[in-house]
Amino acid sequence: MLKYLFFDLDETLYPATSGLMPAVGERMRLYLEQRYNLDPERAHELQKRYWHEYGTTLRGLMMEREVDPQDYLDFVHDVDVAQFIEPDERLHQILAALPYEKVIVTNADAPHARRVLTRLGIADQFTRIFDIVFMEFECKPARGAYERVLNALGVRGEESILVEDSARNLATARELSIRTILLLPPNGDPSVQPARRFLDPAAHSANIECPADANLCIEEIYQVATAVRQLAAHTISASQESS
Ligand SMILES: [Mg+2]
Repeated sequence: MLKYLFFDLDETLYPATSGLMPAVGERMRLYLEQRYNLDPERAHELQKRYWHEYGTTLRGLMMEREVDPQDYLDFVHDVDVAQFIEPDERLHQILAALPYEKVIVTNADAPHARRVLTRLGIADQFTRIFDIVFMEFECKPARGAYERVLNALGVRGEESILVEDSARNLATARELSIRTILLLPPNGDPSVQPARRFLDPAAHSANIECPADANLCIEEIYQVATAVRQLAAHTISASQESS
């Protein structure tokens, strides 16, 4: 039985082309430059390496250097979200029509998440925000991040679906039986492997490429309701077949 929808926040609930995350990324670089006296190239290098090795820049800083996490989070999210994203009434309607409890699971912090949700006009659709502080900085894609969320809600992985724009965050969710919907990047992600698994290939446009860790791929967030209904229907038929 499907109960929960887990939504990633950044570049899932608003377009990746908004420029918001690049602005946050700039703040991360600036933080590295200012707090650790690094030149811009070195800061950029470090940021990239931390993201690859640890999932977030913050996690890298915590593992390899001294950092005050709250100081970092306040600094990097000090951007005016209203400059980048607009209220999205269409998304609000789509979310409101989905009869499942919706929560945010984000590697950002809750104040940033609230600002984004409020600006989009969809804050009322989410009952909880599980942020990087809740995860005790063990961020996605760490399996522990999802385990904490499942435990806090008292649900099994089978009872939830994750909606994410980052393909690398899917595998550990799948290990916990969380089904996954991947929002593909606008112009194709070179790291995404060729299509292997569709529940309903006919539902996708012909040239869509969906990685194996995704149960379904969508090309814009507005398709999420269709994808959720397909996955929910699939569970019902699968359990009927086995009984
Ligand atoms: Mg994201």
